[in-house]
Amino acid sequence: MSKTSFFSDSFIARIKDAVNLVTIVSEVLALKKTGRHYQGLCPFHPEKTPSFMVNEEKQIFHCFGCGLGGNVFTFLMHYHHLSFPETVSELAQRLGVPLPKTSSARPTEEEPGLKEALRSLQAQAAEYYHHLLLTEKAGRKGREYLTYRKMNRKMAEEFYLGYAPEGWDHLVSFFKNKSIPLPLLEQSGLIIKKEKGGHYDRFRNRLIFPIFDDRRQVIGFGGRALGEETPKYLNSPESPIFNKGQILYGLSQAKASIRGLNQVVVVEGYFDLLSLHLHGFKQAVATLGTALGSYQIRKLKGLAEDLILLFDGDQPGIQAALRSVSLFEQERVSARIKVLPSDTDPDSYLFQVGPERFSAELQQAEPMMTFFINRQVGEVGPRVQDQARMVDRLVPHLKGLTSEWERAYYVGLVSQKLKIPESVIWRTMKGSMTGEKISKGTEKSLKEGQIPGLEWHVIEALLRIPQAPLLLLNKDRTDLFETPEARSIYKTMAELYRQNGKVDPSLLLNKLEDQTLRNQISVLAFRGFIESKDEEPFLSDLMKRIQLRELQKQEKALYREIRSKEKLGITEELRSLLALKKDLLQRRKEILISSKG
Ligand SMILES: [Zn+2]
Repeated sequence: MSKTSFFSDSFIARIKDAVNLVTIVSEVLALKKTGRHYQGLCPFHPEKTPSFMVNEEKQIFHCFGCGLGGNVFTFLMHYHHLSFPETVSELAQRLGVPLPKTSSARPTEEEPGLKEALRSLQAQAAEYYHHLLLTEKAGRKGREYLTYRKMNRKMAEEFYLGYAPEGWDHLVSFFKNKSIPLPLLEQSGLIIKKEKGGHYDRFRNRLIFPIFDDRRQVIGFGGRALGEETPKYLNSPESPIFNKGQILYGLSQAKASIRGLNQVVVVEGYFDLLSLHLHGFKQAVATLGTALGSYQIRKLKGLAEDLILLFDGDQPGIQAALRSVSLFEQERVSARIKVLPSDTDPDSYLFQVGPERFSAELQQAEPMMTFFINRQVGEVGPRVQDQARMVDRLVPHLKGLTSEWERAYYVGLVSQKLKIPESVIWRTMKGSMTGEKISKGTEKSLKEGQIPGLEWHVIEALLRIPQAPLLLLNKDRTDLFETPEARSIYKTMAELYRQNGKVDPSLLLNKLEDQTLRNQISVLAFRGFIESKDEEPFLSDLMKRIQLRELQKQEKALYREIRSKEKLGITEELRSLLALKKDLLQRRKEILISSKG
């Protein structure tokens, strides 16, 4: 197995036992305790009602919406886009557990080596730029610019701002002195290879914004030109550790406030974000000058219920606000929108009106759909056809609303704005109501995720019921399995049982390479909670079904033998076979009767 070749099973088990999945998930997602498990909004698929569940006792999770399930490693791998060895080594580092020496030393994409090396370079560069900005003579230009933008030293420290000096090879020589291999530096995006040989710094004469990931590690930079350089804002190129679409600038600084206020404010620019934080709006994050993507929306919805998008008060700002609507609809996440007065951005507006008025206006942000309807309707022409066309344009959005209540409310709003009777709008909606896409949530996906059959029930029992291993694993029962997947899971369980005297679902998940199998395991382990099946009747019923199945097999074999003996006319043996048959039938009857009672 590729994943276990890197670390030993015992090392992996040790790391797993030292962390609590509930704590790890809670770092990035708001979880609520409901009964025996925790519930939250799944970060891996669009949803409005929580179907993502965590079981603390078993240390596994499962989403009944998208079907993804697993243990702490699976969660971190999917959430942070890490490989299995990366996840293990990261957790080990967090816990202060030294990593075992591995034999293969060549870093590849799969291994932790390359990304670690790249992160270390970013960290060194960040320190270099930061030191220059705060203390060196060469950083004066950067300091002056910060003062001009009304930023103080505290902000520069909190966001670890830096300055990249004028000139072509400051960072190149900084790293040369440390004998860092040039190809690695190129990959980091910090320096660029010249066509005619040699290298030069990517960031020159720029104020530097280090970009942190969720784990407070620098993974890239943004730079604001202080002279005539173009573009005005420059970001690090994508690298194995830096993916623009996954990053929310300022999130690591904002996370605590977002949690506390249950609110997050999203802006687009670096200085907008700094201004908000400077004025006490510490629940703000920024996209890196791009529109919010689905990955980022999923991340945010797990952190706070009130999402406010703040847009510049110009035409591109309004267009961006309108564009964001369909993405949020697609993700089934509600948000509010605030477009600032014309020709202002959050940074300038905050300094203009002050934090109090700003806060009041922020709280008046409109629900996304209200904003959308108001803007669209504002553009409608005077003719009847224009109005009809507008209804057609709005209907898909109204249909996309998940709750009856919201639909009724917004149909009312559209009717009022367009002066068209509600009944007409409802009728238009019904007309295109085929293939309704209203989510039935947990219920529907549960039905889809159902895995029938005796074999899967055996696995389910082994996962959920403490007494089951004694009955079903002590003796090899591989004969019960015809489905290859179920058989391989059973074998792995038996192996774990031999080693540890129990089946730890979370450890089992590590042993399975295939994510589909992992999803099946987690769904089975959770079924008891969802369907509130009683353990004892479930197990005894299962054992009866197993007995019945065996009897059936024996009967079949017996019938074959009886037929062959009949042909040969051997009466003596036939008599004893027939007696056996009667016996089998009797036993079957008994089992069936006892299971009815
Ligand atoms: Zn999901």
